Amino acid sequence: MSVLVVRGAVAVLEDAGRVRTGDVIVVDGAVVDDADTTDAEILDASGCVVTAGLVNAHHHLLQTAFRTLPGTRGIPMREWLPAMAAAYNAAGIDPELTGLAARAGLAEALLSGVTTVADHHLTWPSGADTVGMARAAAAAAADVGARLVSVRGAARDDPQEAASSAQAIVDALVPDRPGGVSADGMLQVAVGPAGVHSDPRETFDLLGEVAHRHGLRRRTQANEVVDVEIALERYGRRPLDLLEDWGWLAADVTLAHLCDVTPDEIGRVAASGTSATHAPGCDVPMGWGVAPVRALRDAGIAVGLGTSGGGSNDAGHLLADARLAMQVSALVGPQLPASEVLSMATSGSADGLGRTELGRLTPGSAADLCLWDVSGVADAGVADPVAGLLWASPGRRPRTVVVGGRVVVDAGRLVRADEGEIVARLFERVTR
Ligand SMILES: [Zn+2]
Repeated sequence: MSVLVVRGAVAVLEDAGRVRTGDVIVVDGAVVDDADTTDAEILDASGCVVTAGLVNAHHHLLQTAFRTLPGTRGIPMREWLPAMAAAYNAAGIDPELTGLAARAGLAEALLSGVTTVADHHLTWPSGADTVGMARAAAAAAADVGARLVSVRGAARDDPQEAASSAQAIVDALVPDRPGGVSADGMLQVAVGPAGVHSDPRETFDLLGEVAHRHGLRRRTQANEVVDVEIALERYGRRPLDLLEDWGWLAADVTLAHLCDVTPDEIGRVAASGTSATHAPGCDVPMGWGVAPVRALRDAGIAVGLGTSGGGSNDAGHLLADARLAMQVSALVGPQLPASEVLSMATSGSADGLGRTELGRLTPGSAADLCLWDVSGVADAGVADPVAGLLWASPGRRPRTVVVGGRVVVDAGRLVRADEGEIVARLFERVTR
């Protein structure tokens, strides 16, 4: 039995708005109420706020290799998509690049306090070794010590090919695992077309069948501006009407973005039990507007937080985007309190992945946690150190990060991998 005690924190944010002081006791990778701590490893949290590890519910890790590309800034999405596609073609998407980009993106995640990343991977060239690509991303996660949700996406893929690839990825990565979650909880497989703007009903149907067979979560993107425009052009209907008809408004589905939604649509999403992911770090720079998170939550929709990918956000720093979410919320309704946005970035995201053991520090939860040092000048004068996590010190990074009871970031550095090597190998591959 391995026992870890996180001791001396200024505050422990246990779950949605529940703040306490005292120890966090971890036994064999899970948070417990109490245990014999005589021989425990002690993690000194003095000067720190302790939170659950953040859960990035919507990322595109491959885009980590394609940040700030010329010709991708300040342009409409209709031009952005082919610009990114040209870059993918030129680089050649294969297991090697997928793995190196994931390794960099996941290292960045851990270093900014994100312990679980849902990687909505959308680029699977026809005929490519897609199982090898998924394996490479999973290996990268295991290497740095992060949890990964590998979402077999699709973006204009042949529907049959996408579905058989998704099936092969399940068989290779999480065989015989209900819900597509590995026994140790470090890897999960899900499916998700890019959206109705990109994929036909057949892709939604066939990926949905794979999900149904294995109890996988389904994820897609909906109601950013181009999605609505294209749905109206192509089908004369709005995206959520189509998703509802296609059986993709349901409790196992999470929709990312949702910038442009009507009150009636919010009601239908809520009634179906569908969850949502807010991604302001992508939506705002892309000019898509601000999703009405207050209205979504008031309707009873579980809302998580995601960064979306490196091609639009260019960073995977979820806490920075939580701060942005809080700030821009005041443009579309009453401002979201910091505590609510922090719960979106943790338990809200985890719930949309069907992982209620993640994103909180209540007894029985997985011991994924961050120690945020609030003793420095950027936090001087802060009256509420938990709210200060977002209001003060933009871009803050955790001092220590624990995943499943194991320390993976110590003194702000990766424990299990070399940052310099991760950076060098990705640059070497993309400039080859
Ligand atoms: Zn996205």
